[in-house]
Amino acid sequence: MAGVKGMGMHFYRFDSPGRVKLEKISPEPPDGLGKQEAKARFEELNEELFALQDLMWGARTHSVLMVLQGRDAAGKDGAVKHVVGALNPRGVRVTSFGVPNEVERRHDFLWRVHLHAPGTGEIAIFNRSHYEDVLVVRVKKLAPREIWKERFSLINAFEETLVAGNCILLKYFLHIDAEEQEKRLLAREKDPNDAWKLNVEDWKERALWDEFTEAYEDVIGRCASADAPWIVVPANAKWYRNLVIAESVAEAMRPYRKKWRRTLDEQGKLVRKDLRAWRTGASRR
Ligand code: ADP
Repeated sequence: MAGVKGMGMHFYRFDSPGRVKLEKISPEPPDGLGKQEAKARFEELNEELFALQDLMWGARTHSVLMVLQGRDAAGKDGAVKHVVGALNPRGVRVTSFGVPNEVERRHDFLWRVHLHAPGTGEIAIFNRSHYEDVLVVRVKKLAPREIWKERFSLINAFEETLVAGNCILLKYFLHIDAEEQEKRLLAREKDPNDAWKLNVEDWKERALWDEFTEAYEDVIGRCASADAPWIVVPANAKWYRNLVIAESVAEAMRPYRKKWRRTLDEQGKLVRKDLRAWRTGASRR
């Protein structure tokens, strides 16, 4: 487990398999980082992300996949809104994964997911994902143990396939505590704009808090690798959650900036050469 620090920030990046104890990770923002300072940094990152996305879109050599997981009311929808808000919609695709429908159930569990993997140049955001097949399926006993246990290695192989296709893959667990979840669920119930989002299942799943904790710890511990890390995002404060996500995705894309720039420059040179040749030919005609 690597604690990432800097800019007064603190979040955890898991980039190798191992034991995970979520209770050891605070869901609160770090002391010493003010909300205003964080928002200013978030704006800067948004500009940087927009520019990086533009380069990646043009170069068409890589893609980005951000997987968002978390308990009910952890802020997956809010995170999607803020990440997408910073980007050019031309190159972003958001997919939400709910209970598999009849057609999806007739295929292997990764089939519906692979269909939505990003093509080169694109950023894909998954609101829930293939991880539900080792989370809710395990906790609610929707499949026998021998079925879901086998899925950890299938998921790792699947993600390796994506990475081998030049996908920059980041998996986020939005980490809130039980008090924050209760506060958010009750606030939703009161708000006429939000009440529709509620579901009795949210409260039923809350009763399975410890079982979900164990399932998440297993997922992070078994499916973390250097090329497909899990990032545990302290998410009790929405502004800090947004900042961590923006910072980590910018950090993951930044090393490719020069390469993408070079690819675009080379393409630009070829196009100019073609244009010169065409104009010379045209003037002779
Ligand atoms: P959300 O809660 O993400 O805002 P929904 O209310 O549509 O969206 O809930 C989606 C539901 O689908 C969740 O309860 C989730 O656990 C469930 N789900 C997602 N993937 C699977 C799966 N593979 N098997 C069973 N249930 C799933």
